[in-house]
Amino acid sequence: TCGICVEKCPFDAIEIINLPQELGDEPAHRYGENAFSLYGLPAPQEGQVTGILGPNGIGKTTAVRILAGELEPNLGRHEDPPGWDEVLEEYRGTEIQDYIADVRDGEITVARKPQYVDQIPNQFDGNTRQLLESTDERGALEEIAERLSLGPVMEQSIEDLSGGELQRVALAATLVRDTDFYFLDEITPYLDIGQRVTAARLIRELAEEQGKSMLVVEHDLAILDLVADTLHVAYGEPGAYGVITSPKSVRNGINEYLAGYLDNENMRIRQDPIEFQEHAPRTATHGDVLVDYPDLTKSYGDGEFTLEVEGGEIRENEVLGIVGPNGIGKSTFANLLTGNLEPDEGETDLDLDISYKPQYVTIDQHMRVDAFLSSITDQFGSSYWNTEIAQPLQLERIMEQNLSDLSGGERQRVAIAACLSDSADLYLLDEPSAHLDVEQRVQATSAIRRYAEQQDATVMVIDHDIYTIDLLADRLMVFDGEPAVEGRATPPQSMRDGMNEFLANLDVTFRRDDRTSRPRINKPGSQLDKEQKSQGEYYYAP
Ligand code: ADP
Ligand code: ADP
Repeated sequence: TCGICVEKCPFDAIEIINLPQELGDEPAHRYGENAFSLYGLPAPQEGQVTGILGPNGIGKTTAVRILAGELEPNLGRHEDPPGWDEVLEEYRGTEIQDYIADVRDGEITVARKPQYVDQIPNQFDGNTRQLLESTDERGALEEIAERLSLGPVMEQSIEDLSGGELQRVALAATLVRDTDFYFLDEITPYLDIGQRVTAARLIRELAEEQGKSMLVVEHDLAILDLVADTLHVAYGEPGAYGVITSPKSVRNGINEYLAGYLDNENMRIRQDPIEFQEHAPRTATHGDVLVDYPDLTKSYGDGEFTLEVEGGEIRENEVLGIVGPNGIGKSTFANLLTGNLEPDEGETDLDLDISYKPQYVTIDQHMRVDAFLSSITDQFGSSYWNTEIAQPLQLERIMEQNLSDLSGGERQRVAIAACLSDSADLYLLDEPSAHLDVEQRVQATSAIRRYAEQQDATVMVIDHDIYTIDLLADRLMVFDGEPAVEGRATPPQSMRDGMNEFLANLDVTFRRDDRTSRPRINKPGSQLDKEQKSQGEYYYAP
């Protein structure tokens, strides 16, 4: 045995479960006999942003509760807990010795942003301003609200906010606190790329200018790369045990994660590497035309918001990525295609069956997952369905649960499965990456791609995670304009043209990492940033 499990190893992952020697036998914490064990702790540093990269259920929250002084680590001796003095002794000579001493002495204060912002309205009654005033210990409310563009929703009731607004309010409410240690459990769900970059910059400034310790869990790798100074990779067997590595440079941490192999730990964490294309795909798909739609316009109310769509064609068997800021008309376009909305101008009598996964997944009936999915497809349970849908979306373990009891990430996976399982001409997925951890994103992405290829299906994906779009899309449709006022949509175009147009709107360029070719955001004004802008190459190497 590997020394972790008390009796026989209950997992089929023996090669993974062999822990590296230097971890020793003792975890930082074990919840009980045969219960989850956490090995290693992240090391918050004053004036720095520390990132954690890893799946859900791997012990990140457990680690933070320890660092916040809420949970006394038992070093694996749950029956005879050792107490802080002995814990401190155990960590003598490590990066977090001083930090642990402060925790023991009750000298650490913590502010934290929860992972699931959708639950905030259940916990707070009032408007945005009241919520932010109640946490504004630094007197920074006005500045942070402005940076996060919260002006228009300051007087709005919390329960009326959209997901993207709630996310920014939650970030603001955390960052205006005055504490030693800030823990941000995911900063990007529901935010568009511009908002993600703004959030990352605010967090960096708080660390650099106020000398705060920031710990960020994030699954959008482009943003994690931008926000963090150092990175801990978390790996293991979710729900069984988790290992948090020593800090790595952000570049090495992300590269090793993508390669599926941790160098210092000498540990394989995934069979196959995740690879990016340095050059734009040469041949976009040349399939037959599935739908040829004309110029369309749609306004709401008295023209408060107007969308203009330039006509275009969607091809059979392609994955079409859709990008653009929030509030620019992407969902409106989707609803025009599905016939849920009538355009003011243009004809959308498309006669297409469309299977649609909305951005906010609302399946929460009192019904079991297996019953729900088998009501959608008679392929349910076939070996094909199991291999192509259930396994990559990790549904086996939750089949017997009720929809209403699922976590955000579980609900998202069920909704993706339901969308793909329906038989349709066009599959439209709105923000499938929301609430998925990094590993699930990778698996869901390859499941969607493989499904499109094998079923000759046409898929449209709206997402704000650049890595997800890069791994998924054959062509790109770009939305631009002024959010909540007017939106314009281009026809589908090649990845290179689409990325250039999209990123030029944002004024952001990407370079490629030497080792993995993964895209990395350039520092604004850097040599590369200027060169690429002058060449009009925002994303792919010329
Ligand atoms: P993450 O934040 O990475 O999603 P958590 O630290 O929340 O992970 O949880 C890691 C594991 O520990 C989960 O399997 C969870 O069920 C388990 N766990 C969390 N709290 C307790 C507890 N108080 N008692 C027993 N098990 C727990
Ligand atoms: P996106 O999907 O790009 O975030 P949407 O298409 O959802 O954008 O919305 C575009 C704009 O239209 C937003 O300002 C939104 O508030 C507004 N809007 C959306 N649906 C309606 C509606 N039914 N009535 C009035 N305004 C709406």
